Amino acid sequence: MSNKDKKQAVVVGAGLGGLALAIRLQASGMQVTLLEKRDKPGGRAYVYEDQGFVFDAGPTVITDPSCIEELFTAAGKRMSDYVEMLPVAPFYRLCWEDGSHFDYVNDQEALDRQIHALNPADVEGYKRFLAYSKAVFEEGYLKLGAVPFLSFRDMIAAGPQLARLQAWRSVYSLVAKFIQDEHLRQAFSFHSLLVGGNPFATSSIYTLIHALERKWGVWFPRGGTGALVRAMVKLFEDIGGKIELNAPVARIEASGNRVSGVRVEDGRFFPADAVASNADVVHTYAALLGAHPRGASEGQALQKKRFSNSLFVLYFGLDHHHKQLQHHTVCFGPRYRELIKDIFNGETLADDFSLYLHAPCVTDPSLAPPGCGSHYVLAPVPHLGNAPIDWEVEGPRYRDRIFDYLEKRYMPGLRSQLVTSRIFTPLDFRDQLNAHVGSAFSLEPILTQSAWFRPHNRDSVLSNLYLVGAGTHPGAGVPGVIGSAKATAGLMVEDLRDGILA
Ligand SMILES: Cc1cc2nc3c(=O)[nH]c(=O)nc-3n(C[C@H](O)[C@H](O)[C@H](O)COP(=O)(O)OP(=O)(O)OC[C@H]3O[C@@H](n4cnc5c(N)ncnc54)[C@H](O)[C@@H]3O)c2cc1C
Repeated sequence: MSNKDKKQAVVVGAGLGGLALAIRLQASGMQVTLLEKRDKPGGRAYVYEDQGFVFDAGPTVITDPSCIEELFTAAGKRMSDYVEMLPVAPFYRLCWEDGSHFDYVNDQEALDRQIHALNPADVEGYKRFLAYSKAVFEEGYLKLGAVPFLSFRDMIAAGPQLARLQAWRSVYSLVAKFIQDEHLRQAFSFHSLLVGGNPFATSSIYTLIHALERKWGVWFPRGGTGALVRAMVKLFEDIGGKIELNAPVARIEASGNRVSGVRVEDGRFFPADAVASNADVVHTYAALLGAHPRGASEGQALQKKRFSNSLFVLYFGLDHHHKQLQHHTVCFGPRYRELIKDIFNGETLADDFSLYLHAPCVTDPSLAPPGCGSHYVLAPVPHLGNAPIDWEVEGPRYRDRIFDYLEKRYMPGLRSQLVTSRIFTPLDFRDQLNAHVGSAFSLEPILTQSAWFRPHNRDSVLSNLYLVGAGTHPGAGVPGVIGSAKATAGLMVEDLRDGILA
């Protein structure tokens, strides 16, 4: 079939979800054009480079490499020909201000030893927690992770399992049911924060992340997450897909219950049999489809939903390699429950913070000049809808406070070793990524905003409009958005077969 006889699909946004969908559609026989606003692909997985330092902007903890491998297989290729995945050990080092730390590893004996040292009774409790987490993983990830929840019937069908797994409980309350020690409760409940979920409000379904990490490990692509993005772009182009960067979409053209293509800001029109948006869901409906009644009403409805927190991210390169660091470190501050409340519901910036510190040169020294280190550190902060902080003023101050803290507790001499640094604040999430209220992870993953309650992978009015990425089912995180691409691609290919895209 020549390219012009193929069904034409346009994907708006080259985040990991958009890229994964574009690959699946192209591999299934459509002709796909991927349009990205920024000068580089990746979205939250953008890459900054400066003076030989390479900084992955966003995701660094790569779990479930099999969902990535599946993309290459679907396209008739092998992942190992495009990108090399390196195992990370320990998965994370978790540190507290009392000087204690916990190395979260995939070795049962080493885990048991560390748990025993904190509270002997928790060794048995952890076993029961792991069994629970595995059960949720089977139901929530393996069975439902890439299934589009289009009708309430799908939700009712999943109801009995959700009830049996006590999905109405929060992550923390579930962990606390099995584990007594407060440090261990934090160690096994913080994971939902990686996908924008408050451990005290998000459904206990998100404890599945623990089982997922234990099953498949934590990985890091050689060359950084940016190397994974490049591999996905190359795969897409190798099978005939077209990507345009610096191509911000201004409008998705729609009339009646159909979309006909997209208009880019420079005026060009890309006709399409189907359009999928990987851009923020509020931006998609309120801005790109604002001229259509469906866009206007859905855009308004979505703005009333609860959005995940934002992040303050500080990238920095040092002329020194801090050998004492692990690849991933979580630096717990003095408060846990109260700080999380301030992050998700507070109207101002708290005085304290908890940090995630990324030191990728531990796994791959090529990301900085010889003997040097590339790093980023992030602090979860409230989104702009809750706390309209002037980050132009606050950003540099917050950066200095974080540098002081790291220098004092984790990286002696940091300031004198500093070669380069840059910050990314909630304003950048809003302005550079079009993220509603500057949220880092889109809609908050609470039970009433998950599965059928989340914006659907196919719009319920515009029959050839689809969503992919953090704002649709199943949600944020690398496996989440790649799973969403599988769910959305499944629908699009089915619709093509059933003639809906005809
Ligand atoms: C700092 C940070 C660290 C993270 N760490 C991890 C981690 O370690 N592990 C993990 O699993 N997850 C992590 N996450 C979450 C994960 O990165 C995201 O959930 C995921 O990458 C989002 O992918 P997405 O497909 O939704 O697209 P996004 O990355 O949101 O990309 C959307 C794309 O759409 C583009 N766009 C927007 N509007 C338009 C328009 N009008 N026209 C054209 N293009 C447009 C944007 O420029 C962007 O490129 C992290 C997130 C952040 C922010």
